Amino acid sequence: MTIDTPTGVLEAPYADLLDAITPETGEVRDILDPATGELIGRAPVHTVEDLDRAVATARAAQPAWAALGHERRSELLLAAADAIDANAEALAHLLSREQGKPLNGPNARFEVGGASGWMRAAAATPLETEVVFDDGQTHAELTYRPIGVVGAIGPWNWPQMITVWQIAPALRMGNTVVVKPSEFTPLSVLALVHVINSVLPEGVLRVVSGGRDVGAALSTHPEVGKVMFTGSTATGKAIIRSSADTVKRLTLELGGNDAGIVLPDVDPKAIAEGLFWGAFINTGQTCAALKRLYVHEDVYDAVCDALVDVARAMPMGVGLDEQNVLGPLQNRQQFEIVDRLVEAAKASGARVLLGGEPDRDQPGNFYPTTLIADIHDGAPLVDEEQFGPALPIIRYRDLDEVIEKANGTDVGLGASVWSSDRERARAVAARIEAGTVWINSHGAVHPMVPFGGAKQSGYGLEFGVEGLKALGVPQVING
Ligand code: NAD
Repeated sequence: MTIDTPTGVLEAPYADLLDAITPETGEVRDILDPATGELIGRAPVHTVEDLDRAVATARAAQPAWAALGHERRSELLLAAADAIDANAEALAHLLSREQGKPLNGPNARFEVGGASGWMRAAAATPLETEVVFDDGQTHAELTYRPIGVVGAIGPWNWPQMITVWQIAPALRMGNTVVVKPSEFTPLSVLALVHVINSVLPEGVLRVVSGGRDVGAALSTHPEVGKVMFTGSTATGKAIIRSSADTVKRLTLELGGNDAGIVLPDVDPKAIAEGLFWGAFINTGQTCAALKRLYVHEDVYDAVCDALVDVARAMPMGVGLDEQNVLGPLQNRQQFEIVDRLVEAAKASGARVLLGGEPDRDQPGNFYPTTLIADIHDGAPLVDEEQFGPALPIIRYRDLDEVIEKANGTDVGLGASVWSSDRERARAVAARIEAGTVWINSHGAVHPMVPFGGAKQSGYGLEFGVEGLKALGVPQVING
């Protein structure tokens, strides 16, 4: 199998993986390259009956997996991380073609590296039994038992890394897992699971590549004890409702509309690149990306100018071209959301500093890097989650007012404060209603640092020891 790349026709490094995951029979979905519209491969369209079979298999495999104990399971997860590393280029190329993100920059290779890194961290994080009370008479210990079968439902923006965020702690804690990838990016997840399953015992990790109906069935399934969900707030609410009858545990990582607040003491040129990547990582298709930038009037023009200089220099194009660091939007629906929000901003008199003129007749979904100034709260580009490469930059004068605006949404995933005075920035950060507030950066996550949302951005924590605890049933042994 060959692929056309900007540097010539190449043997696709993922050809063997794609062969292994392409079904010989049954209904399939064509998966098209979002940069070119070309056919990449065909994904199975699994049904609710396939899901039932996968859950039954995972259920049957769970006791033996739990019985292996933490040490052996960690060894197997480390072997899985090695397998990801050994297949890293193939996984990154397939991810780049299916999701659209370039190989280079904080994109496809970075994501595959993150997938193996988080797998290793979940394997290595110690989880000790905790003596919670001991007065000589009462001795109480807190420990964590496996839940059973865990469902993992994921989005299309970071499909491989988010799958590992969901499955690695679940497996480590002695659960078996059924994964339901986004219908937009199934191949990346099917290939990842295929690689991981080369080292795991049969039945421990299953993938069901169906549509929303299969996601809905997973979240009502009586044999599934917990759902790890990352996706939109609307779907998160549907999952809360459909999980109620079986009282499923849930970790919900939902949408955001992260604010960044730039204080007047910054050096605009020094922060411009950090601001850019905070907003435009993965071409803006990132849950905890900077989505509303509030800049103090004293430095407003200088920050706008510095951002334009950085943004102009970042090449956007086909992912397999090694020079690109920005790619297309993954799907046409997302292109249309960004287009609508920017058009509304333009119609309201906001000033386009860069971009804002997409080619609507192209075969791909490229939306140009767009910076919009002189825009205000109330504009849809400020109030709604754009999830794409268009950043509104809002001028402010009063700190109390801007904090009120940053908090004036019903979501609260991340936020950032930019200042040359760390203590001053920390004081502002403490007033922001968000799960994470970064200082002089935005969106950086680490496998040992807990991550989760406030308000309607969801509940539950991922990563680190908190993330492991979320995949177990707490049990107190008292006596
Ligand atoms: P989405 O909610 O449309 O879909 C996510 C997944 O849910 C898909 O696999 C889909 O098939 C499944 N699904 C759809 N309906 C379902 C139902 N009724 N029951 C169960 N599953 C169902 O989200 P998306 O468009 O793929 O992702 C983009 C959104 O995800 C953005 O809002 C973004 O902010 C959010 N996101 C959040 C995080 C985070 O960590 N908080 C990370 C990435 C993305």
